[in-house]
Amino acid sequence: MEYERERTNLVKSLRERRISERTLDAIWRVPRHLFVPSVHASNAYIDKPLNIGHAQTISAPHMVAMMCDLLELCEGQNILEIGAGSGYNAAVMAEIVGKTGNIYSIERIEKLADFAREKLIRAGYSNVEVILGDGSIGYPQQAPYDRICVTASAPETPKPLLEQLKNGGIMVLPEGETYQDLYLIKKSMDGKITKKNVCGVIFVPLLGEHGFNVFMGNR
Ligand code: SAH
Repeated sequence: MEYERERTNLVKSLRERRISERTLDAIWRVPRHLFVPSVHASNAYIDKPLNIGHAQTISAPHMVAMMCDLLELCEGQNILEIGAGSGYNAAVMAEIVGKTGNIYSIERIEKLADFAREKLIRAGYSNVEVILGDGSIGYPQQAPYDRICVTASAPETPKPLLEQLKNGGIMVLPEGETYQDLYLIKKSMDGKITKKNVCGVIFVPLLGEHGFNVFMGNR
């Protein structure tokens, strides 16, 4: 296995952060070096965000792992991701939901959507579909979703995402501009929403109809 020692060290450091064994196993299996620009390949297993071009970043592994744990991912789930970026987070989620699950990942930058799609195919993830579009309006075509993972920071929780979340479903999303917090949102079986602030975070902005103004960060 390529980068075996680096992967072992990464998993070891994430275990110290109390990440679940199920998520650690997925992190171990996903070849993160394939999802970063080749100049960064040798740094792919360091627990840091990396630049993926177009002023966007691939989140640090501990953030990906934490979001997977908060989402209580399990086999067979139907998942929506907003912000495909490199495709790495989608690959980790795909490892957990398995062949019977589906990931729909929306990306607004065409070159990144192409990048993510190509990397996911190359790494063998056939249950992830990358869609070019504005994820702030969700993706009604495959709704409702068991889980929604938003990987860009929104001004407020986009209403369409709440609507497309199944009863009993879970969503994680960063909110805020200068100061951002990660929120864990749960929809009860009778449709009631609860929202819990998990911790401060740093994400790129969610742009679009239910996001920030596109002119703010469109590059
Ligand atoms: N999940 C990614 C990291 C994403 S960075 C990974 O694993 O690499 C956030 C991404 O969200 C960026 O690629 C950005 O272009 C995208 N984004 C921002 N606003 C968006 C929107 N409204 N719809 C879809 N993607 C969006």
